[in-house]
Amino acid sequence: MRTKIVAGNWKMNKNLQETEALLSELSAMLPDSNAEVIVAPTFVNLQAAINSLQSSTMKVAAQNMHFAESGAYTGEISADMLLSLGVDIVVLGHSERRAYFGEDDALLAKKVKTAVEKGLKTIFCFGEELEDRKSENHFSVVESQLKNALFDLDASAWKSIILAYEPVWAIGTGETASPEQAQEMHAFIRKTIADAYNASVADDVSILYGGSVKPNNAAEIFSKPDVDGGLIGGASLVASDFVAIIAAI
Ligand code: PEP
Repeated sequence: MRTKIVAGNWKMNKNLQETEALLSELSAMLPDSNAEVIVAPTFVNLQAAINSLQSSTMKVAAQNMHFAESGAYTGEISADMLLSLGVDIVVLGHSERRAYFGEDDALLAKKVKTAVEKGLKTIFCFGEELEDRKSENHFSVVESQLKNALFDLDASAWKSIILAYEPVWAIGTGETASPEQAQEMHAFIRKTIADAYNASVADDVSILYGGSVKPNNAAEIFSKPDVDGGLIGGASLVASDFVAIIAAI
């Protein structure tokens, strides 16, 4: 049985006071839901988020992580550092990391491997660019992103993988994949995993959709059978919007 998940990627938004204020608003408004709710504030506010959410069911994720154990990697954050705060979920492969920081599938494979070995759950983001969709290469792009970054993992490692299909053309643009486009791709992803591993790995992995999910489109996207929730950017910064999206699952 796979888990329904709504995760908020706060990106480089919210200072310490704003982080605490948003978390306290969210805690007060959180609807009853069988979905797991995750928030990913910026690194410097992870400790504050963990403290704020001590008596909440909401979980805290980091937005990135280095693959190395420790060492001369100025400005980077290790798995052990996250775990020492009580953060055991990490977002890897976000399209902004790929586009602005040169993260490619080979690097992401190393990061995911470290996360798995260290016992962190990974929210692995991937998705095609607009040109890929226009040229009808979107399925092959997604297949190669999965294969290159994840298919060296053992079947047992997939228990700690959450997938987030995020077509790049829909992130922060107000343009959403239609519920049918999302379902079509999520079903393709599940089949690709079933072919590479087996039906049980494919059935058990949660596949989130991300890309301009808002309160007014969440319910229709979440109603699709292979969509297990969402990775939410902009709308996760506004408590009433994020709560409405959680309620839509
Ligand atoms: C994201 O950053 O992962 C995202 C989906 O952003 P938005 O919801 O703003 O499109």
